[in-house]
Amino acid sequence: MARKSGEGENGDQRAGVMPLPDPEEYREAYYAGRVMTSPMGGRLDPLTVRMEDDGSGTVIFECSSSSLRYELSIPTGTRTERRKVKEVRESGIDPYCPRHGEDTRLVRVDRDVACPQCGARFGRAG
Ligand SMILES: [Zn+2]
Repeated sequence: MARKSGEGENGDQRAGVMPLPDPEEYREAYYAGRVMTSPMGGRLDPLTVRMEDDGSGTVIFECSSSSLRYELSIPTGTRTERRKVKEVRESGIDPYCPRHGEDTRLVRVDRDVACPQCGARFGRAG
């Protein structure tokens, strides 16, 4: 079972990464920019945000006290969120993340817009 992850396409980034318990709660804290406490008692510092092919995102955190790594998956934009992003863009404002708020501008990824902090997509660009 202890198959060593080589330097293949997945790298070692997923190796030893555990899913966070209570993802709902952690997502809420993450969107709000609150300090997140790891299940090991330390602080969770975001390391990487990955954009998945299905439009969802994955954020990898490292626990400041144990150095254990955790992942939190972020669902893709809902219909309501996409509509809101579209309305904002059509009103001439650079679209921002409906979860992170106005300080987090969306970036263009392929033909979509995505939040650099969620890794999730929120509909078509332009
Ligand atoms: Zn976001």
